[in-house]
Order: sequence, then structure tokens, then C-alpha cells
Amino acid sequence: MTLVACIGGGQLGRMLGLAGLPLGLSFRFLDPSPDACAREVGELVVAPYDDRDALDRLAVGAAVVTYEFENVPVEAAAGVKAIPGPRALEHGQDRLSEKELFRSLGIPTARFGGLEETGLPALVKTRRLGYDGKGQRRVDRDEPLEDGELAEELVAFDRELSIVGVRARDGETRFWPVGENVHREGILRVTRAPARDAPQVEAERICTRLLDALGYVGVIAVELFEAGGRLLANEFAPRVHNTAHWTIDGAETSQFENHLRAILGLPLGSTALRAPSVMVNVIGGIPPVEELLELPRAHLHLYGKAPRPGRKIGHVTLVDPDEETVARAVALASEEGGEARTTPPHSRVPPS
Ligand code: AMP
Repeated sequence: MTLVACIGGGQLGRMLGLAGLPLGLSFRFLDPSPDACAREVGELVVAPYDDRDALDRLAVGAAVVTYEFENVPVEAAAGVKAIPGPRALEHGQDRLSEKELFRSLGIPTARFGGLEETGLPALVKTRRLGYDGKGQRRVDRDEPLEDGELAEELVAFDRELSIVGVRARDGETRFWPVGENVHREGILRVTRAPARDAPQVEAERICTRLLDALGYVGVIAVELFEAGGRLLANEFAPRVHNTAHWTIDGAETSQFENHLRAILGLPLGSTALRAPSVMVNVIGGIPPVEELLELPRAHLHLYGKAPRPGRKIGHVTLVDPDEETVARAVALASEEGGEARTTPPHSRVPPS
């Protein structure tokens, strides 16, 4: 049986496993936590990501090694010849080198550098290890930046979009429809795909430039701001991405399956839309499962993670929903979901 090894055993690893089992693949994950939720779909090696011996145990017998988060130490990934390759990781781990790469490729970004470059107000971010809005602060007055910080112009964007694509070993690329994303407190809450009046061609052009420059193999995501009809690249993730979880239920081939196909040198699957979809993240607490499943054409994906405030523990994809269904799912899936369950009966969707 073909074994896929994955650095990281979180929900992205778990969904890679769930997509790969029907293809006849088996999985092994490396994660520092014995509770890593991918353990339910493969073997789990429990050790730090930079443990040489554990990396060897992860890779032995594997047809390919990949990763599910971008803060894997570059040497660790390179040591086991992980795909996507080390250049994508290097740039993806450092916001400054990421922005410089965008600039060198002629991909527009917000102004960045020091406060003299960005002007005020600005957003100051740590160059490394920031995620879900962590390691960010708004700055309204001139103040010294600390070591390892980068300032960015605060963009008054009209909306946030993302393009997720896949590149095969032979250089063939495919893209899913652009998604429109809503964040709150720096955490993704909702993705709608396709985005209304999506700038699909321009987004694909940006993503293609990046994929080709990196000689990339696998799935990549580029987060974009749309401001005054222009697209600015915010960041890229060299991995499967939360803004394309809807592809499991809403696209011909999911991002997880196509990532596996790409890194194994198998033919890519169609990225065509099956139906317009809205993905709602389940954050914090276990949601009321029955009420979510009552929603029309709802597909629930729980990750088997312990609830904790601010933690992504699942998502629900609504296929071709009306706005009332979306609002209901958002209320049920949020940390304040309890409130939604006590709303007056007239505002509730009757069971069908
Ligand atoms: P990031 O960690 O860069 O993905 O940022 C998390 C979220 O913060 C983004 O999805 C935006 O909602 C917001 N954000 C990040 N950078 C900027 C910026 N330069 N201007 C305005 N909002 C931003």
C-alpha cells in the first residue's frame, strides 16, 4: 500500500487522510501532541517537528512526505525531501520575504516595511509564527518597531478573497473558484464560493506566477484583499487551506485529494464547481449537531478536537443555501451558539 507521511497531525492532516483512504493510500503523521486529531486516520509518531530520529521514523517506507502547516522547520522538511519544496516554506514562514517575493514577481501588495514606508494607521505584525490574527497590532502613532516586526499599510479593503490552486509535477495547474472570506478577530468564520463577481482570471494570474516561480508541487492558497477593484496579495500558505474546505462537498475534486494526487505524481482531478457552497467554521465549543444536520444540504465535518475558546474544531458546508440557512449555521457554529438555540421559535428554521 502506498504510504503518505505528513509533518503535522491536525485537522488538515486528518482531512488529507480522509481524502486519501479511498485512493488506497495509508498515512503516517508526526505531531508533538499525542492527541493530534489525525491519529484516527493513520499512524501517529509523537515527537517535536525537529526531532531527526522521529523524522526518519516518519519517512521510512513512505512514497512521499508532505506537511500540513507552514511553520515546519525548513531543515526538518528538507531533510526528508518534503513536497512542496523548501523554497515555498522559507518564503511562507517569513512575512517580509513573502512580501518581497510578491513584489519581485510584480504581484501587488499593501505597502510594507517600516512605518515611514506604510504611513499611519498601520498594522504591525511579527514576521514569523503569526497566525489567525495572532502577533498583530494596529498602530496609529509613530513608535519604534521591535526586532522581527514588519509594518503594513492598513488596507481599507472591500472584501477578502482567496485563490486556491494545485500544481502537478509536470507543471500543470488548476484552480478552484475564488472564495470570499469573512474573518472576525483574525479568525476565518465563513467562506462563500464562488465569490460574487469573482476576479477569477486576475487571481489565477497571481497564483500562477507564484506557483511557477517556486517550481511548486501541491496545493497552495493565496489570500487577497480586493480594494477599489484591485487585488492585493496578503499572504500565501504552502498547503491545503481553510478557505477551500468547501471543496470537499462543493467541487468535483477536493483540495485534499488533489494535493495527494499532485505530490504522488498522479493525474489531477477536475476542480470544477459542483454547486455554490458556503463554509462556516465551527469555533470554540461542540455545536448542536442535530440542529446543524437539520439544515438543508448541510455537511458537517468535526475534527475530533477538544473544544477550547477560539479553536477551530470543525466546519459545516452548506450546498447552495439561502441566506436564512447561512445565518442559522453561523449562529449555531459560533462560540455564542447557545444564544442562537434560545432565539424565539418564529426565527427558527422548521425541521423538514
Ligand atoms: P494575516 O495574519 O495576515 O492573515 O491577517 C489576518 C487578518 O487580518 C486578515 O485576514 C485581514 O482580515 C486582517 N489584515 C491583515 N493584514 C491587513 C492589512 N494590511 N490591512 C487590513 N487588514 C489586514
